Amino acid sequence: MLRQKAQALSEAEIRGSEIQRLIDSMLETMRDAPGVGLAAPQVGISLQLAVIEDRAEYLRDLKPEILAERKREPVPFHVIVNPHIRLSDGAPATFFEGCLSLAGFSALVPRATEVVVDCLDRFGKPKQLHARGWYARILQHEIDHLNGALYVDRMLSRTFTSMEHLNRYWKDKTTAQVEEMPAPGPDATTK
Ligand code: ZN
Repeated sequence: MLRQKAQALSEAEIRGSEIQRLIDSMLETMRDAPGVGLAAPQVGISLQLAVIEDRAEYLRDLKPEILAERKREPVPFHVIVNPHIRLSDGAPATFFEGCLSLAGFSALVPRATEVVVDCLDRFGKPKQLHARGWYARILQHEIDHLNGALYVDRMLSRTFTSMEHLNRYWKDKTTAQVEEMPAPGPDATTK
């Protein structure tokens, strides 16, 4: 299911009690994890629906310079349905990213720094979101889920790591320092 394109929802379906209950249960699952986003295919339901929330309490224990570098600010809870995303031109931002569906791992993932998303809200009303920084990354990650894509499809594969090793070796390094890691030389496969 994580590799399928999810089905779109009609306004009537969104407003129905089944989808409203699904949204409430996805909110609970996201907070329990805890995560900053959850897409319906991650809970075994192939629908174009995701919930997003980056709570102030998640940011409390992060260093101010980390928050500033990632342009990460609290995002209130909201729902996106049938989203269409447009990415900004310009240089992407590259940071470590993880996924509840690939628990225990992380990798550097380049992402657009600004996006515009046209979608429906939890009542089926059309909405346009303008997002930058970490919020833009969350939207790209969740909308990828609705199209059958995972961060491992976009990651810099030499930085793929367990959370344990991320915390042990790379936690205090900048993205530039991690990217400077030497690539395997010509001798690497012959010895
Ligand atoms: Zn994910």
